Amino acid sequence: MPSTSPQAVTPPTTLSKTCARPFSPKLGSVPYYTGPLFDAHFHMPSSRGLAEMMSQKHGGETTSDPVLGKDVTLEEILCFFNKEEVKGAIGFYALDPTSLGDTLEVARNIKEESLGSIALFLMPITLDAEKLDSLHQSNAGLFKGYGELGFYDVWLKPLTPSDPKLFNIYKVAKKHGLIVMMHPDAGQKSNIETALQNNPGVNFLLHGFQAENYIADLIDRYPNVYFSIDSAVLYPMMGLFMSGPKEVFISRFEQEFDSMLSQNISKWKGTIERYPNRFMWGTDRGVKWHYNEEISILFEEFARAFIARLDLSVQENYAYKNAEGLLQKR
Ligand SMILES: [Zn+2]
Repeated sequence: MPSTSPQAVTPPTTLSKTCARPFSPKLGSVPYYTGPLFDAHFHMPSSRGLAEMMSQKHGGETTSDPVLGKDVTLEEILCFFNKEEVKGAIGFYALDPTSLGDTLEVARNIKEESLGSIALFLMPITLDAEKLDSLHQSNAGLFKGYGELGFYDVWLKPLTPSDPKLFNIYKVAKKHGLIVMMHPDAGQKSNIETALQNNPGVNFLLHGFQAENYIADLIDRYPNVYFSIDSAVLYPMMGLFMSGPKEVFISRFEQEFDSMLSQNISKWKGTIERYPNRFMWGTDRGVKWHYNEEISILFEEFARAFIARLDLSVQENYAYKNAEGLLQKR
């Protein structure tokens, strides 16, 4: 059983008073789990500089990725967490290579302001192991892991999780006690297996539909692999989860709520219960319109309805304890 730290209760910020929201489900899909949550897959909005650089790369068009302090503030993020009773999160955060110092400063600020409840994972902008090693050396404890490493993504597409370049990164991860969060591309089961087998001192956290059919097999055979059952597999809705628009997403989500719930329960319930310490909840929030009151209510409602249908003995593990337990491992 993963242990929970005594201080891992909702941080006593002033926000918790101003941002509380009684759980207010819209769809009446009883029963609901009413305990705390931990978002194990959350994309931190990027800094202004990095967002501008990404938009230049995309020919100047504005992306749907939010900018921290412009489209959404840290205070608003923490406020949503308080409303949803999300006591912590794994937040993927990218550094801007052109103003490394500034973005590191923002990272320190996120850690401080969230009272450590947001565990930052570094989205590496380079696969230069030496550079990363020295970055962690001079910023000890700032990052808890690497990720998200999306192997379907343009820059990682030519590589696989068992590429020697990645193996060098796993060495750095081991040295600094970092978790490696990966989203494998299709057909990479054996590459992942090679990575798990040869890096027993590194814990790997996976997500994504590409791995959903084999994750139980890997979990069965390797002690160092975990999986977040988050929006990427719970309700991708043919890409609507990422593309929106918000109004279409909401109306489809409400219409399909019950069928998505029962499909996911028949797909995941048995597996979660068979491996009570290896699966965790998450949202995969990351685009602008995800920061919205209605969306927040729906995500929370689906999570609580799904968790309530798991065996009582695994509900808290999946909801928050497994994620907290993983973060405490070294
Ligand atoms: Zn993601």
